Amino acid sequence: MPQDIVVIGAGVVGISIAAELIRHGHKVRVLDRTGVAAETSQGNAGAFAFTDVMPLAAPGIMRKAPKWLLDPLGPLSIPPRYALQIAPWMLRFWRASWRDRHDASVAAQSALMDLSKAALERQIASTDGEHLIQRDGQLQLYEGEAQFRESLPGWELRGRYGIKYDLLRTPEEIAEIQPGLDRRFTHAGFTPDWINTTDPKAWTRHLAQSFQAAGGEILQCDIKSISSTTSQVELTHAGGTITADKVVLAAGAWSHHLARTLGDRIPLETERGYNTTLPAGAFDVRTHLTFGAHGFVVSRINGGVRVGGAVELGGLTLPPNYKRAEVLLEKASRFLPGLDTSGGTQWMGYRPSIPDTLPVIGSSPKTDNVIYAFGHGHLGLTQSAATAEIVRDMIAGTKGAISLSPYRADRF
Ligand SMILES: Cc1cc2nc3c(=O)[nH]c(=O)nc-3n(C[C@H](O)[C@H](O)[C@H](O)COP(=O)(O)OP(=O)(O)OC[C@H]3O[C@@H](n4cnc5c(N)ncnc54)[C@H](O)[C@@H]3O)c2cc1C
Repeated sequence: MPQDIVVIGAGVVGISIAAELIRHGHKVRVLDRTGVAAETSQGNAGAFAFTDVMPLAAPGIMRKAPKWLLDPLGPLSIPPRYALQIAPWMLRFWRASWRDRHDASVAAQSALMDLSKAALERQIASTDGEHLIQRDGQLQLYEGEAQFRESLPGWELRGRYGIKYDLLRTPEEIAEIQPGLDRRFTHAGFTPDWINTTDPKAWTRHLAQSFQAAGGEILQCDIKSISSTTSQVELTHAGGTITADKVVLAAGAWSHHLARTLGDRIPLETERGYNTTLPAGAFDVRTHLTFGAHGFVVSRINGGVRVGGAVELGGLTLPPNYKRAEVLLEKASRFLPGLDTSGGTQWMGYRPSIPDTLPVIGSSPKTDNVIYAFGHGHLGLTQSAATAEIVRDMIAGTKGAISLSPYRADRF
């Protein structure tokens, strides 16, 4: 039965959900305090990273972390001013890295990725979006035999989940896929099924246009609280209240603040990430390049080059430290000696992250009329189409393609 549904958040997750719900006959409004793709969804690396099934919380991570943390501009950092606040989240992260939980997370992530891949193809087809898609695969690069060997169990595990990959063992083999890399990269794993968008902001706007063309409304509105009766949900904002049959909360890294007003405590923190986007002609990027040991990637965006990554566990209010973007760019210029680093634009975004690396997709423990869809961390673009289909099935009351228990809001 058609329902009156409000989606809070016009990032790629909220807009994907809204577009899917309106396609299935519901009345849908999207509320965002800023606008479409105004936050994290505008500046990410643009990858549909379907092969990225290994959670960050992995066995041994807490042994490696102190080494990374010693370098204040390294791939992982915690600003001293935020160390105390992040401690409870880190404790959950550590527990999630134990072997039993890690293996369960890989299984849950793989199931969600399989659905994400299929759902993205349906989304591309239903919105006529192929012109914003690049199908060039991904190279995961290693410096030397030892680093490569260390990666092999991860590749074997991916293989067990049906992920296609080729292992490359010489710089010459790598150069056939991506010329111009420094020869320190002696080994690589290539995943041909990896997909990128030409521009994550344009992609989200494209989905928003498709939603609006179907009659959907996008309104500027800063929601302050959520409350619910048995039949309706009420949202408050500076100008009054808005009611709906159902509300989907997809407010990215800010979602836990609104969930709290309903009485739910969700361990959501932000992993801040940085990048620099260089104009067209900066380098001939032929595939998505992942420099895993250095915590950054290089992707082709609008014909230009985006160099970005890093994890800064620094919350939502500390000012950005753009030295991180500079360090990544400097490294990229060493790894891609022909890279023209001039004319770049820097950016910082807030990955919405849950300690076990899985998103929250499910009803609020307080009411079935509020559905949570946030916390996708490094994978919000990748998993947006699948999240939309899951929310659609929840609202329809039909059994979806995968078990939803790993993503429940009350799992903590
Ligand atoms: C450097 C970097 C690189 C990344 N690369 C990738 C990648 O290659 N692939 C990938 O899959 N993911 C990537 N990610 C992660 C991805 O960008 C995020 O997971 C995703 O954008 C989250 O989308 P979202 O819709 O949940 O949140 P957002 O895009 O942040 O949207 C949330 C929206 O909610 C609104 N909002 C918040 N509070 C309120 C309120 N109270 N009232 C009204 N509106 C509100 C905000 O204005 C915002 O527009 C990357 C992230 C970073 C930082």
